[in-house]
Amino acid sequence: MFTLLLLACRPSVPLSEVPIEGGTAEQRADVRTGLLAFDEAAGSGRVTLRTIRIGQLDGYAGSYDHFYRRIDLDEDTTNFTFVLRHELCHALVEAEELLDPVPAVIAEARDGLFSSVRNPNGSGGYDTEDFETETVANFCESGPSGAASAASVIDGGPLDADPELRRRLGAWLLDEIWQGQPPLPPLLLDPADVIASEAATTELRPTEDPSVVADLFDGRTFDLYTGAAVAADLPAVGSEESVAPGLAGAYYDDDGGSRVGIAGGTSAFIVTWDLYHLGSLSAFLANPGDGWRLVGDGSAHLPRTVFTADGEVWTSWMEDGTVLWTSLPGR
Ligand SMILES: [Zn+2]
Repeated sequence: MFTLLLLACRPSVPLSEVPIEGGTAEQRADVRTGLLAFDEAAGSGRVTLRTIRIGQLDGYAGSYDHFYRRIDLDEDTTNFTFVLRHELCHALVEAEELLDPVPAVIAEARDGLFSSVRNPNGSGGYDTEDFETETVANFCESGPSGAASAASVIDGGPLDADPELRRRLGAWLLDEIWQGQPPLPPLLLDPADVIASEAATTELRPTEDPSVVADLFDGRTFDLYTGAAVAADLPAVGSEESVAPGLAGAYYDDDGGSRVGIAGGTSAFIVTWDLYHLGSLSAFLANPGDGWRLVGDGSAHLPRTVFTADGEVWTSWMEDGTVLWTSLPGR
């Protein structure tokens, strides 16, 4: 009872000031970073808490207690900021009564989520009365860029199961949760700058010669700026990979060709957002140095890769047996 009174008396404070107890110094620093990022993307001061505790939880990664204004995080969780974002979304839903009444788009997403094989109930055992807040928190996990991608991308690829509901859900998350996140502006490519060649795959990579790229598949080499085959015996080397931050919640293909960037310049990222029963959404994003944008309409459905060459970021894709590539404009 004494503990309860103490907790109840401790004030609920902005996320920048919430005491973080337990865990390692590194974990506490990760949590603080996640708190500040949430405040920036949702709008400062919308969620206040009394405390965050890192410790041993019994079979779940995190929880939010609205009575105590407290988040608990499991110390063994591998993706800390992901779980934290999920719990902060619960806190915001409660603080602003965003589900009273339940919006139609959330009810529609709930019905699919809790009747599908991807039902998150399988691991957590949620009560029926929590279905709506879990629906919001599960989609909210993808963060502000995930919601902005979900709201905007036209063709999310072969696993994009319900693009129409996905767009409405993304728009709701942007409106109600991520009020500090603008919709992702497009980065437009000039068709006049597109270079074509007969390479076997889209897997182009830089070589030691800045103006020559190699086909990773068959080793043939091409002039970066004309597409002409060149007789250079140069092996492919790796792209630069200095990628701007800010796409928390995204997954990518670790095998290369989906995440590159020049330090202080443009970054490009072919990302995948996990959307539970709505499948997954692929989006093509680039950051020319002033924030992430959707490249074109953001669609990443064509076989596509990104690479660096001659101090710039490039993308290549295949159309009708021809490989095409173009640079992504910088600032
Ligand atoms: Zn939850």
